[in-house]
Amino acid sequence: MPDTYPLSNLAAIDAAHHLHPFADMKKLNAEGTRVIQRGEGVYIFDNHGRKYLDGFAGLWCVNIGYGRREITEAVARQMNELPYYNTFFGTTSTPTALLAEKVTSHAGARFNHIFFTGSGSEANDTWFRMARVYWSAVGKPSKKIVIARKNGYHGSTVAGASLGGMKYMHEQGDLPIPGIVHIGQPYWYGEGGDLSPDEFGLKVARELEAKIDELGEENVAAFVAEPVQGAAGVIIPPETYWPEIDRICKARNILLVTDEVICGFGRLGSWFGHQHFGVEPDLAPIAKGLSSGYLPIGGVLVSDRIADVLINEVGDFNHGFTYSGHPVCAAAALENLRIIEEERLVERVRDDIGPYFGRAWAALAEHDLVGAADSIGLMGGLQLAAEKSTRTRYEKLDQIGSLVRNHALANGLVLRATSDRMLASPPLVISHAEVDEMARITKLALDAAWKELKS
Ligand SMILES: *Cc1c(COP(=O)(O)O)cnc(C)c1O
Repeated sequence: MPDTYPLSNLAAIDAAHHLHPFADMKKLNAEGTRVIQRGEGVYIFDNHGRKYLDGFAGLWCVNIGYGRREITEAVARQMNELPYYNTFFGTTSTPTALLAEKVTSHAGARFNHIFFTGSGSEANDTWFRMARVYWSAVGKPSKKIVIARKNGYHGSTVAGASLGGMKYMHEQGDLPIPGIVHIGQPYWYGEGGDLSPDEFGLKVARELEAKIDELGEENVAAFVAEPVQGAAGVIIPPETYWPEIDRICKARNILLVTDEVICGFGRLGSWFGHQHFGVEPDLAPIAKGLSSGYLPIGGVLVSDRIADVLINEVGDFNHGFTYSGHPVCAAAALENLRIIEEERLVERVRDDIGPYFGRAWAALAEHDLVGAADSIGLMGGLQLAAEKSTRTRYEKLDQIGSLVRNHALANGLVLRATSDRMLASPPLVISHAEVDEMARITKLALDAAWKELKS
């Protein structure tokens, strides 16, 4: 960094020129931004030398942890060899081709192709077009509508934000675009009423069937959902949910799209979330853990059913990005996958650290402020509650989560808050002792928030 920019000035420089994503800039500038300087393992360090355990893996993505020199070396090698070339005009590069083979080798027999993008949002825009192109090519051009879910998250581009079911996003810029409709989410704690979780899971899954009937099967292209809702607050669906969704999509000839941007690459203890739930998607957007966030890259896993039509019937699919299959990003992703394989991180989440984290996390349910503590693999959701026994939620949803989050941060732990839920998603390399530290600080933060609420 040039000497003319003393560290103490960075927050002011940032405030003067940088508009942040999903941020109230006036508020952020008043509070000051934090400058994150360095990362190592599961820890990040700010420019004041303060150390934080990153319980959120950056933004659900740093699966192999920070500071992995293998990645920087692979990236430097590729940069020196070929920093960029496109994949548009019948060309590819070595890491790009190898990555396509490697990713699909983990995605099960139905997936043998990938379309590369630069991000998860672009991946969602990509399959959205692909699904419509597919139906046109097989002689069903009226199948255009996509059914998605309230409180789903599929990115911030126009199609991504429209597919997502975040009301506060739709309110800005006249979204969703036409051709996208939303059904309920499998959020039993908040919306299940007197039904058991299993009854509720079936009920919300069957909203899909009812919506298809209402719209006409001949008009519906696809249903999209995250295997586990991430941004909505780590909402783990009841066990009855996914089998019923899978059944309905098959019975009605609707494409099933699982958005694997968070659930892919070991987060749930499987390579992909759909494998954990035993369902059979036709398309699956991926990103985040694909490169552990070291460089931006995403893609869409394309099943044989769709790929055969794209390859043999469609001719030109007029879609792509300058950075589709970027050789340096592909080199980072390839090395990342090599590390995940070599260190058996997927199996580690399934058999060791996932269950260990699950026990530590579940113990937090005893806290007076916590209504439920659920986890799956290395993804945890903590439901804050005003009154546990009746599942009564706090009135000021937004304030309660950020209160706990701020106390966690002050004690050296990064957690995320979404309204009245706390979200955890640590790197897959986290140790048992570091999980203990996460649980200990989370409890401290809950205690401090509880004390503040009572006074
Ligand atoms: C983060 C995310 C996206 C968007 O990915 P970007 O890389 O931010 O564009 C899409 N879907 C899900 C499930 C996500 O969590």
